[in-house]
Amino acid sequence: MTARLIDGKALAASLRAGLAPRIARAKEAGQAPGLAVVLVGDDPASAVYVRNKIQACEDVGIRSFADRLPASTTEAELLARIGQLNANPAVHGILVQLPLPGHVDAQRVLETIAFDKDVDGLHATNAGLTLMGVPHFRSCTPYGVMKMLEHTGIAVEGKHAVVLGRSNMVGKPMAMLLLAANATVTIAHSRTRDLPAVTRQADILVAAVGRRNLVTADMVKPGAVVIDVGTNRTPEGKLAGDVDFKGVSEVAGWISPVPGGVGPMTITMLLVNTVEAAERRAGLTN
Ligand code: NAP
Repeated sequence: MTARLIDGKALAASLRAGLAPRIARAKEAGQAPGLAVVLVGDDPASAVYVRNKIQACEDVGIRSFADRLPASTTEAELLARIGQLNANPAVHGILVQLPLPGHVDAQRVLETIAFDKDVDGLHATNAGLTLMGVPHFRSCTPYGVMKMLEHTGIAVEGKHAVVLGRSNMVGKPMAMLLLAANATVTIAHSRTRDLPAVTRQADILVAAVGRRNLVTADMVKPGAVVIDVGTNRTPEGKLAGDVDFKGVSEVAGWISPVPGGVGPMTITMLLVNTVEAAERRAGLTN
C-alpha cells in the first residue's frame, strides 16, 4: 500500500473529546445540549443507527431524547410530534431517522423541523444557506469529510474535486462545501458518460454512491485523495465502501477506509452541530 490512511475513527475520537469543555460551558449557561432522535417503525438498520447516535450522545454528555414511534404512525401524528419537539426548550437538535415509512412524506417532515434545530442539515433553509456559502448547519456527512481533509492537512483550494453522487444528503452539500473551500468541483451521477475519464481528473475524489467496488484503481489519478462515503455489505455481511480499497491504495496518495472512515465522522458532526445549537441558544457564539 502506498496511500496514507485518513483515519476517521481516530479523528472522530479526538473531536468528541474536544466537545467536553464546550458542553460544560453550555451547561453552565443553562443550555445543556439535548438531541431528540425520532425513529418511526422497526427497520433493523435504522434501529442500529439510532442506537449508535444515542450512545454517542451519552458518551460525550449530550442529553438524548429517544422517540420510538410505531410504523403505523400517520404523517399528521409525526408532524405534531415534531411540533412538540420544536417547542421544547430542552431540545436543541432534532433528528428524524430516514428512511420513513412510505405513507409519510419525508420532505414535509424535514421541513417541519425548526431550521435552527435541524442538526442533520437537511431542511431546505439549511441546504439553501450551504448553497449560498453561509451555512448554518452543514449536512453531517459532508461536514465530516471536510474535517477529514482539514485535519489531514490536505489543501482543497484550487484542486479539482470530483463528487460521485448528487443526493440532497451527501453529494450536493459535499460539492457545495468543496466549492466554498475554493475547489473546482465536478458532480458525477448515474447518467455521467465515461465516469473513469471524469474521476481520473480528480485531485480529490469523494465516492457517495452505494455501489461496492465502483471505484477501481484505473479510475484514480496517481496521488489523489480518495474519500469513501459509501456503505455497502459484502456477501459475507461485512461493511464495505464504494472504493476497491486494496487496488486504489496502490495508486492514491490518501485514502479513507470503510469501516473507520467517514462513518464515525458523520455521527461526530451530528454531536458538533447539537453542541453548536446549544451554544447559539446560550449566546456563546460570535
Ligand atoms: P443515494 O441517495 O442513493 O444517491 C446515490 C447517488 O449515486 C445518486 O446521485 C446516483 O445518481 C449516484 N449513482 C448511482 N449509480 C451510479 C453510478 N454507477 N455512477 C455514478 N453515480 C451513480 O445515496 P446517498 O444517501 O447519497 O448515499 C450514498 C452512499 O453513502 C450510500 O452507500 C450510503 O449508505 C452512504 N452513506 C454513508 C454515510 C456515512 O456516514 N458513512 C452517510 C450517508 C450515506 P442519480 O442521481 O443519477 O440516481
